Amino acid sequence: MAQIFYVHCPACGGRFPCHQELWQVEYDLLCPYCGLSFPQDQSPLIISASGERRERAPQPADATTTGATSAPESM
Ligand SMILES: [Zn+2]
Repeated sequence: MAQIFYVHCPACGGRFPCHQELWQVEYDLLCPYCGLSFPQDQSPLIISASGERRERAPQPADATTTGATSAPESM
C-alpha cells in the first residue's frame, strides 16, 4: 500500500499530497495549484506519512571572498 506524504510548493506555498514512491526516487513534483514542476530539493518542507518533517537544509551563506591578492600595477 502506498503511503502519502505532503510537499510544500516553493513557489505558491501550497501543500499537496504525493505518493511515497515518488519521494524515494528522484522525480520532479508537480504543484496542482500553480502547475510548477520542481525537484524535491526545492521544496521548503516535506511532511511524510508518519509525520516526519524534512525541512530543506539552509544553504550556507556565501563567504565574502574579497580578492585582496591583486598585485598593484607597477611600472
Ligand atoms: Zn505551487
